[in-house]
Amino acid sequence: MPTVASDIEIARAATKKPIFEIGARLGIASEDLVPYGHDKAKVSAQFINAQSKKPDGKLILVTAINPTPAGEGKTTTTVGLGDGLNRIGKNAMICVREPSLGPCFGVKGGAAGGGHAQVVPMEDINLHFTGDFHAITSAHNLLAAMIDNHIYWGNALNIDVRRITWRRVMDMNDRALREIVGSLGGVSNGFPREGGFDITVASEVMAILCLANDLEDLEKRLGDIIVAYRTDKTPVFARDLKADGAMAVLLKDAMQPNLVQTLENNPAFVHGGPFANIAHGCNSVIATRTALKLADYVVTEAGFGADLGAEKFFDIKCRKAGLKPDAAVIVATVRALKMNGGVAKDDLGQENVDALTRGCSNLGRHVANVRKFGVPVVVAINHFISDTDAEVAAVKEYVAHLGAEAILCRHWAEGSAGIEELAWKVVEMAQSGTAKFEPIYPDAMPLMEKIEAVAAKIYHAGEVTATKAVRDQLKAWEEQGYGKLPVCMAKTQYSFSTDPTLRGAPEGHVVTVREVRLSAGAGFVVAITGEIMTMPGLPRSPAAERIVLNEQGYIEGLF
Ligand code: ADP
Ligand code: MG
Repeated sequence: MPTVASDIEIARAATKKPIFEIGARLGIASEDLVPYGHDKAKVSAQFINAQSKKPDGKLILVTAINPTPAGEGKTTTTVGLGDGLNRIGKNAMICVREPSLGPCFGVKGGAAGGGHAQVVPMEDINLHFTGDFHAITSAHNLLAAMIDNHIYWGNALNIDVRRITWRRVMDMNDRALREIVGSLGGVSNGFPREGGFDITVASEVMAILCLANDLEDLEKRLGDIIVAYRTDKTPVFARDLKADGAMAVLLKDAMQPNLVQTLENNPAFVHGGPFANIAHGCNSVIATRTALKLADYVVTEAGFGADLGAEKFFDIKCRKAGLKPDAAVIVATVRALKMNGGVAKDDLGQENVDALTRGCSNLGRHVANVRKFGVPVVVAINHFISDTDAEVAAVKEYVAHLGAEAILCRHWAEGSAGIEELAWKVVEMAQSGTAKFEPIYPDAMPLMEKIEAVAAKIYHAGEVTATKAVRDQLKAWEEQGYGKLPVCMAKTQYSFSTDPTLRGAPEGHVVTVREVRLSAGAGFVVAITGEIMTMPGLPRSPAAERIVLNEQGYIEGLF
């Protein structure tokens, strides 16, 4: 077998252009770019605000079937499609999330695409990048510090110290910090209380930054954060602690989208990275909106499979930001289809058309679901070396029966040359004007019914169950004026159901809402239906043990 270059080897071999050249292509003058070195820049708020009257380009969502544990190549396909559109002469750019630093030291791997479809500089993007996550961490923890400080100095707001919901965050996988007791050590250290840490991407500040329209809206939403409740259960807001102004100051630069380039020197915004379970899992609204002003085609990605990622992209991000997607690409791999058809992870390398055909039910369900939002769909088969011709033919035939098209894409191996056919198809779909985007439920629907609508229409569940406490909580929030918010479903990414082992296209299953949380600043109600981990741990042998700087000063062992 020929040796395949690793993602990092390919990325390092890239011939990058100065970031000012990439900006100039989009019509961004050098004074409107705030450079971070030679190959990264933020776009000034002033420039962004000045674009508001321009017409929007076409918005293309890349989503996927229920994945294998390795992921299905959504980011890789997003980057590849952006390059493919540029290759066929279109003015296209991509918008993806910023990866979280912590998980890179657990399991080897990055999140800037792969093979010949990557955004660069990939080491920077995967590590400190332009410091956005550090700024979010600081803003989040400033609020935490102000809560304890307020209590220390007499607790004029009457915060019930047993009902503080605002935890602390850091961008590191550290299970030791999940549940802690703080303020130990005597009178001068405050009042001991239980608390804990989440990873930065799980911070509500992250979700807020990604949904805010501008700095003013950012500050308003920060003020709306509920940090605790009083003994009479009335909420205490970040605004009550006067934390919102200082938090916005810390986030001023992080709010500006980061411009980088693909391996083929095409422009990309990499900005914001909220969790895809307790938050909505897509890049920032400000980056997507700005990209739509600067390019004729904008390709963007939503986390996890379409049941979670696309649903939240449509029902939360697009609904709230007034975005109207023109087409969707559902990424499928032969491997994941076989896995959905019952093949074990270790046997994915062997041809198995029967299992693949069974697993296609998963793809079929996602195609039908995305169409329910009024968005036309094409399937991208992200080609892996182990795929056989018979397997690829079986997927194409299955998708043809759905009245859609599945197109084989080789962007991972070949870059834009391997994805031209998909690019042309996407242009045709976006230009056809067939998209009639509608969220799956209206704003006015009661919160529980919204959860039931997603469970019935997207998951094909038979029933939603919830304790009286959960139902009462939802009613209480409706009475407090939060009833119009969308719901943010936290569910396993591996199944349409809440059981990660139930693959394919299960029907009639029961969705149990175990807990609900209000993200009042971000503007959604989180419905938790399974085990949700908001502070990951490191594996037995973390990648960090093998990460070093080599003699040339290059990073080894990270990717
Ligand atoms: P997702 O965004 O769906 O999580 P990614 O695009 O990040 O997936 O890809 C996950 C991993 O799979 C990356 O390490 C990437 O390099 C690898 N990968 C993606 N597509 C292919 C392919 N066609 N062949 C081999 N590896 C691939
Ligand atoms: Mg991804």
